[in-house]
Amino acid sequence: MKQKINYRLALIALVAVMAAAVSITLVYYRLFQDQVRKDLKVQAQLLCDTELFQNLTEDPDGIEDTAGFTALAKLENDNLRITWISQSGRVLYDNDTDPGTMPNHLDRPEIRQALETGAGESVRRSDTLNMNTFYYALLLENHTILRVSTQARSIFSVFLSAAPVILIICLIIIGLCVVLGHYLTAQLLRPIEMMAEQLDNTTAVPVYKELKPFADKIRSQHENILSAATSRQDFTANISHELKTPLTAISGYAELIENRMVEGEHAVHIAEQIGHNADRLLSLINDIIKLSELDHSELPRHFSEVDLSEIAGECCRNMQVAAAQCGIRLSFRGSPAVIRGERELLKELVENLVQNAIRYNRENGYVRVSVTAEKGRAVLTVEDNGIGIPEDKQGRIFERFYRVDKSRSRETGGTGLGLAIVKHIAEIHQAEIGLTSRVGAGTTVTVTF
Ligand code: ATP
Ligand code: MG
Repeated sequence: MKQKINYRLALIALVAVMAAAVSITLVYYRLFQDQVRKDLKVQAQLLCDTELFQNLTEDPDGIEDTAGFTALAKLENDNLRITWISQSGRVLYDNDTDPGTMPNHLDRPEIRQALETGAGESVRRSDTLNMNTFYYALLLENHTILRVSTQARSIFSVFLSAAPVILIICLIIIGLCVVLGHYLTAQLLRPIEMMAEQLDNTTAVPVYKELKPFADKIRSQHENILSAATSRQDFTANISHELKTPLTAISGYAELIENRMVEGEHAVHIAEQIGHNADRLLSLINDIIKLSELDHSELPRHFSEVDLSEIAGECCRNMQVAAAQCGIRLSFRGSPAVIRGERELLKELVENLVQNAIRYNRENGYVRVSVTAEKGRAVLTVEDNGIGIPEDKQGRIFERFYRVDKSRSRETGGTGLGLAIVKHIAEIHQAEIGLTSRVGAGTTVTVTF
């Protein structure tokens, strides 16, 4: 990662330096070219003003004898080439080359332009690759043409001469980038490393605020993992404990039988007890299996359109006998309420709630189950006038293995897993559970889908 950042920084710097160098050279070269042109123009005008060429007949030999030649000689030193050309394009004078050897100049663009408009200019690349020649031609009053030219460096050569400096700057910047990249990544990563070291320390604040969401998320996940591990441990401990009780009883009874200590009526009682404890074990194991299935919430669920009222009605009919045995009136009232859900799970939910309402009831108590559709939402209500749940315990009854009155619950075969299963099923169906209860008056549980 650090290396990547270093590379990128260096690349960005390199591109930036190159772009700056190229664009500065371009701008500079333009100005430079303008200046060269302007200078040429001024010099041509100056020469013209000396009237040196104006007064000459087309006889170049006379130039050296004129007064203006001093000025001309001076201009020569400035790398200035002066050519005097006749109207027909013949070179009459050139301060650099013998005019006799020079070709007709009528085809030169600056000459043609000067003949047409009075002045002309052009730029040509010289034989030497790195130089450009700038020309400026002026039509004189005697219809001859005065042309001045000078050589100036081409953009390529300007750029080449800047290359060593650019290279040095690039190297310095790359060096800077490496150092900076190192420092930046260290600064960036240090808080993350620090955070990893002190995940448990909830008071530690991230060094920069951009890290806060990340830190919070990681921390909450970490806490979740820890609490899941703890609750799994608790769960295992609870299971072991719950399994132990009926198994100890069964093995005790087996020992009695083995030692031939049971006879007649007593034997029947012991067989009953063994059966009772075995049932407890079975129901406990069933609940655990159910819960562990529900725990895998990532499993795809087989949801379909189901009528909650039909499911609840069926459950109530099935539990009528059990309720009657406990001397409890179980009634059901429902209007069609179609929801998306899984039939088996919903049945389980209703059964658990109704079972609780029967189990934690009193002599001649009642259980009223209803399904209504309110504001487009299906609401299941299970109401009883049983023993109720103390206010301070109401928050905990949905925990696994939690029972308000352990002895009473165990007597009636409860393991404390029923409401944990209910809560799970409600979550899967995105339903909300409501609970109101008063000790001695009864309990009402609502599930809103
Ligand atoms: P299980 O349902 O697994 O056989 P359980 O009934 O003891 O066992 P839950 O259904 O989870 O477990 O209920 C937890 C506790 O909440 C119960 O032990 C009981 O103390 C209390 N409780 C639940 N429903 C009612 C109710 N309708 N009236 C009074 N107390 C209740
Ligand atoms: Mg229960």
